[in-house]
Amino acid sequence: MVSTEAAFVIESSVPSPVAASVAAVAVAVAAEVEVIKITKSKLTNIEIQTAPILDFDKGDPTMYEAYWKLIGDDFKITISSSEALSYFANPKSFCWYMLPKLEHEIKNLHNLVGNAVVEGRHIVVGNGSSQLIQAALYALAEPLDPPSPISVVSAAPFYSCYPQIADCMRSRLFKWGGDAHAYNDDKAYIEMVTSPNNPDGELRGPVLKRANGMLVHDLAYYWPQYTAITNPVDQNIMLFTMSKCTGHAGSRIGWAIVKDPDVAKRMVRFMEISTIGVSKEAQLRAVAILEMISTNSCPSNFFEFGRSVMTERWTKLREALQGTDVLQVPDFPPKHCNFKQDYNECHPAYAWMKAQEGVNLEEVMKEEKIRVRGGGTFGCPNNYARVSMLGRDKDVDLLLKRLPSIFKRLTF
Ligand code: PMP
Repeated sequence: MVSTEAAFVIESSVPSPVAASVAAVAVAVAAEVEVIKITKSKLTNIEIQTAPILDFDKGDPTMYEAYWKLIGDDFKITISSSEALSYFANPKSFCWYMLPKLEHEIKNLHNLVGNAVVEGRHIVVGNGSSQLIQAALYALAEPLDPPSPISVVSAAPFYSCYPQIADCMRSRLFKWGGDAHAYNDDKAYIEMVTSPNNPDGELRGPVLKRANGMLVHDLAYYWPQYTAITNPVDQNIMLFTMSKCTGHAGSRIGWAIVKDPDVAKRMVRFMEISTIGVSKEAQLRAVAILEMISTNSCPSNFFEFGRSVMTERWTKLREALQGTDVLQVPDFPPKHCNFKQDYNECHPAYAWMKAQEGVNLEEVMKEEKIRVRGGGTFGCPNNYARVSMLGRDKDVDLLLKRLPSIFKRLTF
């Protein structure tokens, strides 16, 4: 490259007038190069400024839209104005607002996938599993009439909404107690066990195994598109949700599988007090969707679709991260999946990314206009961040394109 210094050298070592004209050309070229450099950097800045903000913060399951578009109108439901007026759906059942057909389809799907024991268990439907988490905390803590709120704990990295859910009502029954690893009280407690875990995808069991502990198993992601189904889970309270199973987060349908009938009744009591049940329109939609998945009356198997999308995304992400140590994601050894009857790679719903200590990864990603959820909200240092893998294809592709710029920012 010709610089102004080079122009000076030319001027002082070559006889004039040739030297003068060569030096003038050199100066002109150097100026041109400088202009190109500035324009390039301005363009990069404009590119960043005008690039769309990519939201990888929320676990919004829009990746499933592509599948349901393929299904088209085959499983459309229509509800006339004379239908579903009553609060009640099944007055004979303890869960009187739940459509019997929904209970049937929920049990059917679990039997098909083999991820949870449902025989002889009680199903409680809720407005998403978020409401059922509150219902479960209420049902476990209420009969104890505790002199001070019972601690709700979960092992870090824990699902970032547990602290908010436990503390939002400032209840006298329970309060957020933090990382289960750090719990050293001898009082009764409730441990939230999330498996596979949000955010890091690990299959988990309880951390604290004490006699006065109560467990709530949040199994939102225990489906074959995310992980290997290694056994039918048989725990006291197990929570599932349409949001992460079929992608219908907007329907707000979740369910609990509960062993103890009294706990189940108290959960229903919470549902009565908070929302007097669950929308029947949403329940009817859930019935149609779950039935379709179980009978497999669709062009290609639903779980097969989910698994192939997740496999492709994780493969591309791992390829993009190869050869760099500035950003890492956990590895998952393949496990035998009883549903697939083969070894299954785990492709969690979130990539739990780790940068070097001291880096604020959420901030670095924000500079490249990528929104992610920082480690702090999960009880971890801020060099960790959670990136949702559940969004639309086009956004995932854009994220992968922006990764090299993130690496650059992390290298310096
Ligand atoms: N539990 C876990 C672990 C989750 O990740 C989520 C959703 N992000 C929920 C519960 C709540 O799901 P929903 O209320 O949509 O059923």
